[in-house]
Amino acid sequence: MKLHTRILLWLVLGTLTGAAMRAWLPAEFVVDEKGVARLADGCALDTWLAPFRLAANVFMSLLRMLIVPLILTSIVQGVAGIAGSRDFGRLGGKTLGYYVLTSLLAITTGLLAVNLFRPGVGADLPLAVPDHFEPGGGRSFADILERMIPQNVFEALSDNGLMLQVIFFALLVGFFLARLPERHRRPLQELFESGFALMMEIAGWVLSLIPYGVFALMVKVVGETGFGSFGDLLYYMAVVGLALLFHAAVVLPALLWFIAGVSPLRWFKAALPALLTAFSTSSSSVTLPVTLRVVEERGRVSNKIASFTLPLGATINMDGTALYECLGVLFLSQFYASSGGFSLDLADQIYVVFTALLASIGAAGIPSAGLVMMTAILSGLGLPIEGAVLLLAIDRPLDMMRTAVNVWSDTIAAAVVARTEGEEVLTTASSASP
Ligand code: ASP
Repeated sequence: MKLHTRILLWLVLGTLTGAAMRAWLPAEFVVDEKGVARLADGCALDTWLAPFRLAANVFMSLLRMLIVPLILTSIVQGVAGIAGSRDFGRLGGKTLGYYVLTSLLAITTGLLAVNLFRPGVGADLPLAVPDHFEPGGGRSFADILERMIPQNVFEALSDNGLMLQVIFFALLVGFFLARLPERHRRPLQELFESGFALMMEIAGWVLSLIPYGVFALMVKVVGETGFGSFGDLLYYMAVVGLALLFHAAVVLPALLWFIAGVSPLRWFKAALPALLTAFSTSSSSVTLPVTLRVVEERGRVSNKIASFTLPLGATINMDGTALYECLGVLFLSQFYASSGGFSLDLADQIYVVFTALLASIGAAGIPSAGLVMMTAILSGLGLPIEGAVLLLAIDRPLDMMRTAVNVWSDTIAAAVVARTEGEEVLTTASSASP
């Protein structure tokens, strides 16, 4: 059986198992300090979920353990390999161009969806409605820029949330490594190349565990969250799902087809293990080892391009998150406006578009990072951040969807850049399964 079919089967099985446990096992809930209901420690459901939680955590840690060494080695050796040549500017330009373009397209989809379906109008939300708002200075581009530069490299390397800093450092190391005299350059470059090859070997082994990891994660997530708590926000969730689907199934495939001439369906099949991992882990960074493996082995993208575009993409290219930032903030402001509060004018909406882009770049590839960034946009607009806290209660399923879209866009970036660099992709991939 193909790897992606196996993962899909285990994913469905995990969902059913989690749902069955949730339905049949007695459970108690407590409300935590953020006002979100959580499973009480020690109730029957909690006890039964424990082994699945353990397996899920072990699986997540196996992937997490690879993130920093993979990002560091892949970017350093990737950049060092091309920094000397004229390829560097071109590749970098294309990659960043694609990232900004697709993120803006995603935000536009979010903007259209929220104005078309108006999920916030008349929504019944337990939020106090302010009658005016005071745009604060908020957090801005300058802020992201400042946080991008590590004050201490070792601190950045030891925190999975500081990936933008690791990337910044790795880009510098790769770039200047290429300029060192031969005697110094050679051993270091070989060290990073070998280190990267080693990490990819380990990633290959973790790949074979994905079906079981995904199973445990789904049991845990569905068992802990269930489906019942979404109530009034179901319409909003449906709008988010629809907008994400439109971006993933129409906009991105169109780019893949028209710019790269690659069949979206075949590419989807090749990328599926990474998409399913993204869906069940809710983390692009955690998925990175799988994404790299899958794009190189099943997608047949060269190591040069995959190791340059994907680690960057996992942190700075988040189409799903960008779309969600825009849709979520405008949803809340729609609610406030329709409940007798204030409304956002065009300038505010434009502000939302640009901060959504920055928030998606600045967000770490970890679960619910997008929601944390949303509080920054809200306070920049002078809106109460309680809205984001409310959305936290329903964030998991939305996070799963937007993370899958984030990773889908990264894989397409690799294909588009590879094709425009004259590479053949997917040539033997339809039959290949690692
Ligand atoms: N969980 C997402 C990711 O890792 C980020 C987000 O919260 O939107 O891609």
